[in-house]
Amino acid sequence: GSVFSHVVRAPEDPILGVTVAYNKDPSPVKLNLGVGAYRTEEGKPLVLNVVRKAEQQLVNDRSRVKEYLPIVGLAEFNKLSAKLIFGADSPAIQSNRVTTVQCLSGTGSLRVGGEFLARHYHQQIIYIPLPTWGNHPKVFTLAGLSVKTYRYYDPATRGLDFKGLMEDLGSAPSGAVVLLHACAHNPTGVDPSLQQWEQIRQLMRSKKLLPFFDSAYQGFASGSLDKDAQSVRIFVADGGECLVAQSYAKNMGLYGERVGALSIVCKTADVAGKVESQLKLVIRPMYSNPPIHGASIVAAILRDRNLYNEWTIELKAMADRIISMRHQLSDALRARGTPGDWSHIIKQIGMFTFTGLNAKQVAFMTKEYHIYMTADGRISMAGLSSRTVPHLADAIHAAVT
Ligand code: PLP
Repeated sequence: GSVFSHVVRAPEDPILGVTVAYNKDPSPVKLNLGVGAYRTEEGKPLVLNVVRKAEQQLVNDRSRVKEYLPIVGLAEFNKLSAKLIFGADSPAIQSNRVTTVQCLSGTGSLRVGGEFLARHYHQQIIYIPLPTWGNHPKVFTLAGLSVKTYRYYDPATRGLDFKGLMEDLGSAPSGAVVLLHACAHNPTGVDPSLQQWEQIRQLMRSKKLLPFFDSAYQGFASGSLDKDAQSVRIFVADGGECLVAQSYAKNMGLYGERVGALSIVCKTADVAGKVESQLKLVIRPMYSNPPIHGASIVAAILRDRNLYNEWTIELKAMADRIISMRHQLSDALRARGTPGDWSHIIKQIGMFTFTGLNAKQVAFMTKEYHIYMTADGRISMAGLSSRTVPHLADAIHAAVT
């Protein structure tokens, strides 16, 4: 017998498992709205032109070698990533109060940040929104933190439960870490307004709660890189401390390259240097140092004015296509006279619509219409096209009538 014969089969990941089920379905009309990956109007994955150009540059440069990167990754990538999220003229960067380390996309950045906090921060509790991206509780629990939730989404309004959020953060223990989605909250597509962000900031600073931003969709929500970073920037502008995990998976379409960054904004340059020295001790035994290719692509794009401008145009086009899908789906439901208020399809932002469909309705749509999505009723608008909107609208209509 195998020494592993006692191992029980684990369930599929609730998000990636949707794709596993989709792949097994032979139906020609099947539609995968589960995973958060951008698709073209033709339903194909997209490699940005600007990424192809940057890769060509890298290939043509014969001086490039495949040596190990330092533990903290590519220095130029780290600098440019900090500028992207905090702003080119950020005083925190100018006074060297920020340490930035290259990590394995958004997930890896969250995990390294979590492990650092578990080792070196006095308060071991992290509050995450309810609901949130399904990986958050697992990442932070395994990092060694104790995970609690704060109210975020109100099913009745399909909007923000601002009162609940303020009450829960208001009664959190002093010093607790609070995970905030920088923009395009996943799965709800519901973000606080700027005024609400300002109130959240005041409350958190007065209670000494430590912000940990997850920025997985910068530029993807509104089409503007600066606009989508405003939440982070108002917290950095007050001179206080915070952590930020950045991902280039969605906004540069570099999903499988696993390229991201963790920044920790500190009160002084001296503290930032010491924090970085400890981040190295977290990273070294985990994966030694990060991969070179994706970070080189990002650095090539961010450092060059022409490539950067081209990127912003391609990014805006992706964001605009998603917004147009929201309008088309909303119109299609109105045309069918589908009962209920569907205005949230247009109000919510980012990659997902939190439809409000329940698990039973989702199961019905999968069985009868071969449409795949997570059981919480979240659909990826990026997986939709003009061609597939009518099929989805038919399915939703049938599910709710
Ligand atoms: N955080 C949020 C909110 C996400 O939605 C995702 C991806 O879906 C991630 C982090 C991590 O993505 P990645 O590790 O691919 O950068």
